[in-house]
Amino acid sequence: MNGSQARPLILAGAGHAHLVALKHWLDEGYQPPQQTLLINATPQAWYSGMMPGLLAGRYNETDCAIALEPLCKKLNIEFLIDKVTAVDAEHHRLTTSHTQFDYRLLSINTGGQPPSPDITAASIPTAPVKPFTKFIDAWQSWKNDATIKKIAVIGGGAAAFEVSLALRQSMPATEIVMLCQTLLEQHSQSVARKARIALQKAAIQLQEHLSITAIHKDCLMNETQVICQADAVVMATGAAPLPWYQTAGLKTDKAGFIQINNQLQSLSHPDVFVTGDAASLPGAAHSGVYAVRQGPVLAQNLKCQIESQSLSKYQPQKNALALMALPEKKALMSYFNISAQGQLIGLWKNYLDKRFVMQYPKK
Ligand SMILES: Cc1cc2nc3c(=O)[nH]c(=O)nc-3n(C[C@H](O)[C@H](O)[C@H](O)COP(=O)(O)OP(=O)(O)OC[C@H]3O[C@@H](n4cnc5c(N)ncnc54)[C@H](O)[C@@H]3O)c2cc1C
Repeated sequence: MNGSQARPLILAGAGHAHLVALKHWLDEGYQPPQQTLLINATPQAWYSGMMPGLLAGRYNETDCAIALEPLCKKLNIEFLIDKVTAVDAEHHRLTTSHTQFDYRLLSINTGGQPPSPDITAASIPTAPVKPFTKFIDAWQSWKNDATIKKIAVIGGGAAAFEVSLALRQSMPATEIVMLCQTLLEQHSQSVARKARIALQKAAIQLQEHLSITAIHKDCLMNETQVICQADAVVMATGAAPLPWYQTAGLKTDKAGFIQINNQLQSLSHPDVFVTGDAASLPGAAHSGVYAVRQGPVLAQNLKCQIESQSLSKYQPQKNALALMALPEKKALMSYFNISAQGQLIGLWKNYLDKRFVMQYPKK
């Protein structure tokens, strides 16, 4: 056990909601109780909206990463680079790869991971888009590997679309194929139509109406049928829960995400707050936009819970603005049934993304 006393508050994961909550505390001059601890798997938090721009060469790593040590220092929060591997909600205990902590209040914002097909040994290299650090390592090694002539991207959402286009820009001689059920099915038909044209212009092959259930050697399969062959695979298949969400003793939904109420508390354990992709709340999609909007309510509610005051309610917005990066500094906008694209939208996306990252202290 690390220290005999229970920590007053542990923040697990520096996801988007925690980043926003910490910035709120910084702006209002609030300091959480002494011995508050943030645990994150990496020294920095990656801003996902800028990741495709990093691959495409529009940004470098420091543009899209928020250093956590300086932020914690300003708030007098202890920071530990470690991986949470288990939570025992019944006994208020959290286990990491190296140690254990007891807590009085826990806030989980560790995100999700892309679900993966079955991969047999001796298969081609595969890289889930998250965790980002590992994905960036894989992408950098593939860029310098002449044997990687064809990359398959599994997934049909905004992340898969943007990553496919970004890979095309970063590896112009490599064949890129995108495999999915339906391209951008959460968006309007006009957005999907524009996206198909963008893929065609970039010479990215799109194969729809299929699901990849296994990867065997260099074959991407649906059950026993070979769908395509490739030299490497990117999994941009959305968010699945981390395995320890289901074993924490917290109430989870059928998929394994932690169920919360509108105050962002676990349905079964009110001393555990959960936000972002880890959480399951009707009306709140698993996307960065929703996680960011939860941040201010989380900041307020953690503070009120510590001070035994009443909590505020988070109301998920009905629709979220999506801005997807396109080549030539353009972007594609999707909002309700409205779609638009061009360089002005690209400039707007760049402004919003950079503004988010730049609000955090560098040292
Ligand atoms: C390429 C790409 C582009 C995207 N673009 C957009 C976009 O433009 N707009 C949008 O709305 N959504 C976008 N998304 C989706 C978005 O990334 C997620 O919905 C969002 O990041 C969820 O945020 P979160 O707060 O749940 O946590 P995350 O942002 O996933 O952060 C989780 C944090 O917890 C840490 N962590 C994870 N596991 C552990 C552990 N076991 N122990 C300790 N720390 C841990 C991670 O290191 C990370 O810092 C994109 C996704 C991808 C893959």
